[in-house]
Amino acid sequence: MLLTPGPTPVPEFVRAAMATETLHHRTPEFEAIFKNTRELLLEILDMPEALMLSSSGTGAMEACVLNLTAKKSLTINSGKFGERFGKICKAMNIPNTEIKNPWDTPVNVEDVINAVKNDPEIDSICIQICESAGGLRHPVEEIAAKVKAINSDIIIIADGITAVGVEKIDTTNIDALITGSQKALMLPPGLAMIGLSDKAVAKLETNAKGYYFNLATELKNQRKNTTAWTAATTLIIGLGAILEKIKADGFENLYTDTKKRAEASREALKAIGLPVYPKTPADSMTTIYSEKSNEIRKVLKNKYDVNIAGGQDDLNGKIFRINHMGLVASFEASWAVNAVEKAMDDLGIRTFDGTANKVFMETYFR
Ligand SMILES: *Cc1c(COP(=O)(O)O)cnc(C)c1O
Repeated sequence: MLLTPGPTPVPEFVRAAMATETLHHRTPEFEAIFKNTRELLLEILDMPEALMLSSSGTGAMEACVLNLTAKKSLTINSGKFGERFGKICKAMNIPNTEIKNPWDTPVNVEDVINAVKNDPEIDSICIQICESAGGLRHPVEEIAAKVKAINSDIIIIADGITAVGVEKIDTTNIDALITGSQKALMLPPGLAMIGLSDKAVAKLETNAKGYYFNLATELKNQRKNTTAWTAATTLIIGLGAILEKIKADGFENLYTDTKKRAEASREALKAIGLPVYPKTPADSMTTIYSEKSNEIRKVLKNKYDVNIAGGQDDLNGKIFRINHMGLVASFEASWAVNAVEKAMDDLGIRTFDGTANKVFMETYFR
């Protein structure tokens, strides 16, 4: 059972859709497929424009930083992915200021407001909606609204790679909403997507840069249902298939079910003495602090067939992360917390009595 917060398992019907023969990308047949996927993508992102890029999520992060910052970026670092925005700025020779916090701590809204007020050079803010390093939720919508009230020209670049497909995101004040194929959208890695506001589209007209990742060139092509370079045809077919399924089931139903599974998992694990790591947990994953994380993960994988993620850098061996993104059945999530309780018994940490599963079910069906 693959329950890592990316990559997530690719459903059978998506694999079947992607098993069709390779199409040439410059054909009316592929343009029709592209159009269908693009329309579904615009719907889930809930933004005026959207782009699909052949790259992993980091490529879209780099493209947004490069194309949508003219002077200076404010990057929010509460983990590895926020830190990455800063590293991208350095690599692209774009000045940046960073607000850094521990990996369990979301950025303080006032700190962002003060940074923007004190530095008129800042013309973009880069932030994760969910910082996957510690599984925390940043108050992106509140920040975006308050920043826009001060200066509506500041571009808000939101990394929603572990948020799109997890919850309904209020995109009113967001200019670029980034996502990737291998997380909540349950596709193989290799496709990145960006939702764009009218403001972002206008900025591209004067500020677009780069060659492969020149977003003005991409937008011009993708509005005509084609791509600047060879399209990732197979992944675009897969994206169409998964979005059609999510839409048919109802976007809201997926968000509600993900939230219920996340809440039930957190309550279940807290009930067996495992503390939730982030101060503001996102619903995309449950992150638990435990000095025995690597031991628990090992037993989970070898004895109970449950593959979950650990922590990176300083958090290696200190946290484990269970995925809730995508079409995960409630019985799979309850089996995962049950397996954690069994593993704790195997390791002599706590005697098994079925509490995790019971609390999961009580919370899920409340
Ligand atoms: C996975 C992830 C990324 C992108 O990583 P890639 O390996 O380039 O796909 C970026 N941001 C967040 C928050 C992520 O979870």
